[in-house]
Amino acid sequence: MTAAIPFLDIAAANRELRNELDAAYSRVMQSGWFILGSEVAAFEREFAAYCGAAHCTGVGNGLDALHLILRALDIGPGDEVLVPTNTFIATWLAVSHAGATPVPVEPVAATHNIDPARIDAAVTPRTRAIIPVHLYGQPADMTPILAAAKRHGLKVIEDAAQAHGATYRGSRTGVIGDAAAFSFYPGKNLGALGDGGAVVTNDSTIAQRVRELSNYGSKQKYVHESEGYNTRLDELQAAFLRAKLPVLDDWNSRRVALADHYMNRLAGAELVLPAVIDGASPVWHLFVVRLKERERVICALSDANIGVQIHYPIPPGLSLAYAKTPASKIACPIADTLSREVTSLPIGPHMSIEQVDRVCDALLTAIAS
Ligand SMILES: *Cc1c(COP(=O)(O)O)cnc(C)c1O
Repeated sequence: MTAAIPFLDIAAANRELRNELDAAYSRVMQSGWFILGSEVAAFEREFAAYCGAAHCTGVGNGLDALHLILRALDIGPGDEVLVPTNTFIATWLAVSHAGATPVPVEPVAATHNIDPARIDAAVTPRTRAIIPVHLYGQPADMTPILAAAKRHGLKVIEDAAQAHGATYRGSRTGVIGDAAAFSFYPGKNLGALGDGGAVVTNDSTIAQRVRELSNYGSKQKYVHESEGYNTRLDELQAAFLRAKLPVLDDWNSRRVALADHYMNRLAGAELVLPAVIDGASPVWHLFVVRLKERERVICALSDANIGVQIHYPIPPGLSLAYAKTPASKIACPIADTLSREVTSLPIGPHMSIEQVDRVCDALLTAIAS
């Protein structure tokens, strides 16, 4: 039996950086300081500089990053926020947790990202913001999104949880809208060894409010100015992320090489390949193809010991979580169709071109049989 090809090999990533990660752990363990210290402050400076942003605030995870941005913008009950119909449910939950209403907008099927041409029709007098998601690591088409936001006076919050380092017309994701949320969940392109997240922005008011809200609504210990939360990036995760940030561009470029190889090998086959928009440089968090007979092909790949996943099998608006809300009444045929066909092939900085070839061989055989 040939060796398995995992969907993503995080252990291999940690092996490559073993010395740096061990040193990070030792530094924090010996310091005896675990919450809001010098590692978090240094990572915030380094990640802000990486994104080209004025501010970065570490928080507990990507969902909280989105939620705190909404709170910092005073978006809450009675307000509407435009969200893509096809995204990870966190994009929607952040809006619900703030007490606002998620209003779904369908994607462009070819790119999986929110369709700027559908924004005008979704706006009402209550709409306050739009959350474009850079899904699978491909930047959303931000120029027309920003134009629509300007027409209607909306804030633009980037969900960059899958797009660390991706660029759109020369800007890194994270600095294109009013503020951006990043996740450092272990499987993300920049992943911690546990949960983590950050808010990136050029707006010092948003940055300051997020910092307060994340730390019990307080600037000064035991002086509480708002009903805040406890959702902070911790020193250990910040130290691990500092070990990983210097290799992010290199690891992203390995993903790009694998994606190029998939594109060449699978061109002309009976499936839909990812489409890249003009001016965008994706970082291929996921390599997602569309397959008509998905279940049969996935079984064949599993039999060949190849890790395949589905992102995502149920659009948030069709999930039980939103069944009793107005969003469930809004049809989302494009997201529904995509959710039945999308198939994520293995990709990651520790996968080889030979492994991509093996996936393609197995996939092409399964499609043809
Ligand atoms: C991972 C992810 C999030 C949430 O991040 P967590 O750190 O898991 O809370 C939000 N949006 C998208 C698109 C994601 O992929």
